[in-house]
Amino acid sequence: MKIEHIIQTLEEWTPLSYAEDFDNVGLLVGDKNRICSGALITHDVTVAVVEEAIASNCNLIICFHPIIFKGLTSITGKNYVEKTVLKAIENKIAIYALHTALDNHKKGISYRLGELLDLQQQYILIPQKNSLFHLTTYVPLNEKENVLAALHEAGAGSIGDYSQCSFYIHGEGQFLPNEESTPAIGDQNILTKLKETQLSVIVPKHTKNKVLKALINTHPYETVAYELVAIENQHPDVGLGSIGQLKKPLPLNDFLIHVKQALSVAYIRHSETHLKEIKTVAVLGGSGSFSIDAAKAQGADALITADLKYHDFFRGENTLLLVDAGHYETEQFTKRIILEYLTKKIPNFAFTLSEVNTNPVKYF
Ligand SMILES: [Zn+2]
Repeated sequence: MKIEHIIQTLEEWTPLSYAEDFDNVGLLVGDKNRICSGALITHDVTVAVVEEAIASNCNLIICFHPIIFKGLTSITGKNYVEKTVLKAIENKIAIYALHTALDNHKKGISYRLGELLDLQQQYILIPQKNSLFHLTTYVPLNEKENVLAALHEAGAGSIGDYSQCSFYIHGEGQFLPNEESTPAIGDQNILTKLKETQLSVIVPKHTKNKVLKALINTHPYETVAYELVAIENQHPDVGLGSIGQLKKPLPLNDFLIHVKQALSVAYIRHSETHLKEIKTVAVLGGSGSFSIDAAKAQGADALITADLKYHDFFRGENTLLLVDAGHYETEQFTKRIILEYLTKKIPNFAFTLSEVNTNPVKYF
């Protein structure tokens, strides 16, 4: 099996178009056309992880955090990024990063963090904007079902728990084919009027090219009339963070103990709060100070995240309990999520979990 096949399988699950604009995801190092000898799944890539890949005969490392974030102007091994990339290249090891493509998955890192805390009825805390399009096209009445089926097959009309969603109205269209044309209906230089159906479907960003290809291939007209418009609607299935309810409200101290036990951590940092009990909990694995306002707006009693700065803790304003449970700690299960998905999709292939603890933060 080629490395490319594993990448395609991953991107059916976490399309790269889900990733945030600042991010650097996808294949970062290596040749996707190589046969994959084995894949090592890790949270971060370090020199130790590349050595582990060599020792376990894996020529693909699938990681959560990208090792290359900014452009490298040289690769000479003068820092840990260059050392890692250099070692991977020298040993013909490819590196593929998922990062915010997985963060933005409805059942990604934050959802799993919520599960660990036993949150019920979770939904996305910050649904992604600008990831939906609206497609309108005009087809002869007798071609409506054909075209619609092809659009749905390509992924149009799927949103939330619903698929094959569309809207249509019947009307009359007209066109005048010139002498260069080869019209499917009508003749050159004769104004043609006919009954048409106006079809409307929603198009998730990652399916856009496939949907347009399906439209052009299936639509009977030589020149297909359509409008594809970016819409500002939030995407209910794509976004960062998660929010849900504890089964029963917990007194503040009990809640803090619950967080520590669920994440198996010895220390957490938290803000002051006037709240006596915690019921609604927002979570965002990894750096999440940007989600404080969203957690407040959604009525959360607590936000569990990481990398909060001193001044961030004031932003709880005593009404939102802010908990910093550590970056690595709130993302500790990323490897398992990736492994579970890949072994389900490609069951007869050896995916290996890295045993290197890459957490750069130590506690004393
Ligand atoms: Zn992270």
